[in-house]
Amino acid sequence: MSDLSGERWQAEVDSRLARLELWADEAELADAVVGASQSTAGGGGTDYPDLDSWVADYMCATFSRPLGGEFRWCSKWREHREAVVRLDALWCSWKALSRDPSLGLSTWLHNFLDPQLIVLLSSRGTFSGCSSERNEPGAALCSRDALDHLLRTPVCPIVRPVN
Ligand SMILES: [Zn+2]
Repeated sequence: MSDLSGERWQAEVDSRLARLELWADEAELADAVVGASQSTAGGGGTDYPDLDSWVADYMCATFSRPLGGEFRWCSKWREHREAVVRLDALWCSWKALSRDPSLGLSTWLHNFLDPQLIVLLSSRGTFSGCSSERNEPGAALCSRDALDHLLRTPVCPIVRPVN
C-alpha cells in the first residue's frame, strides 16, 4: 500500500517537474523574443564602441530623409564641430534612455532626437552648405579676433559725474 502511494507520489512529482521544465522553456523563449524586439527597435543591448559606429550603424541606418531639398546631411559630419557636439549628445542620451524598456526610446525620440534632427538636417541647419558632392562646414558665429575685440570694447561709455 505504501509502495503504491509512493509510486503515485513519484508520478505526481515527475508530472510537476515536467510542467515546470515546460514553463521554464516558455519563459526563456519569451525573454529571448522580448530581448530581440528591444534590440531591433531601440538598439538596447547593442553596444557601439564609439560615436562614429553609433552614427553609421544605428542612427544613419535607422532614420532616413529624402536628402537634397529640405533635408541635408554630410558624410563628413566629423568636420562640423556643431554636428559632433550634437551627435555626441544624442549618443549619450540614447545610451542612457535606450536601457529603459518602457518609455526610454519614446522619450529619446520625442525629447532628444526630433529636435536635434531639425537643427542638424534642415536646409538652414548645420549641414546647410553641404551636399553629396560638397562639404562646407561653414563659418563659426564669431571668430576669436571678433570676440577679443568685443571683450575689449566697453559696452557703455563711462559716465563722469557732473561738477
Ligand atoms: Zn559637410
